[in-house]
Amino acid sequence: MPQLDGKVALVTGGSRGIGAAIALRLAQEGADVALTYVSAADKAQEVVKSIEALGRKGLALQADSADPTAVVESVERAAGEFGRIDILVNNAGIFPYGPIGDVTLEEIDRTLAIHVRAVFLSTQAALRHMGEGGRIISIGSCWANRVPVPDVTLYAMSKSALIGFTKGLAHDVAPQGITANIVDPGPTVTDMNPDGTEEAEEERQRTAAKKLGAGADTAGAVAFLAGPDAQWITGTSLAVDGGYAA
Ligand code: NDP
Repeated sequence: MPQLDGKVALVTGGSRGIGAAIALRLAQEGADVALTYVSAADKAQEVVKSIEALGRKGLALQADSADPTAVVESVERAAGEFGRIDILVNNAGIFPYGPIGDVTLEEIDRTLAIHVRAVFLSTQAALRHMGEGGRIISIGSCWANRVPVPDVTLYAMSKSALIGFTKGLAHDVAPQGITANIVDPGPTVTDMNPDGTEEAEEERQRTAAKKLGAGADTAGAVAFLAGPDAQWITGTSLAVDGGYAA
């Protein structure tokens, strides 16, 4: 029997890249999967079709993670459709980049809204529909702990916030038999981080493996943390980065 048979997952930002890979992997492991997106409705529907082709239920929900009402509503709609939520994957993200002096107030607010506030709110809402064996998994970054390049200060700050969040949360949800963890991807080829650029080559050389990752690498780690073998792992971060942080 697949290890997540009968489980219900919600993946934020599941229309493309790492989130789409996670949504598909969780479906392969047996879960029904709801996913959110902000603008790529077609891509979100393609992921839903792939989930359904695996014999699982899929649901695409338009919800801008920067909008607190939309975040909570998307969780409620997923729980309403599937009856509960067993696995929440906080994945939706953006990549603000540039000299610190050029970062605008709007960029700061939007980044923190998507990477931090939405994670808190979606978790709060999901916990109302989650029981024993539940999993909260947030997608951080190899730049949450170590930041070897300039011009990503806002991004790194927003991702490191997940560490305090997850450590605190681990205590809050342990009595309910729920775990909270982070997966920190290294440079992974997606629309956010395309291969074939000078930056991609620099990132490749910073890994021990001299290799960029794929969404499936992160998805495998998420599937492990979502499964029964990870029931005693909580409040921690798992680097999936080809040795980037080593
Ligand atoms: P992509 O840009 O390829 O995909 C981003 C996903 O997030 C899309 O599904 C997008 O939806 C969704 N999204 C973006 N903004 C919002 C929003 N405001 N509300 C709801 N959904 C939103 O990114 P990646 O797959 O590369 O990144 C996924 C996560 O992994 C992010 O948190 C990122 O920070 C993290 N990460 C990525 C790394 C990399 O090298 N790629 C490395 C380390 C961490 P839509 O399709 O509708 O735009």
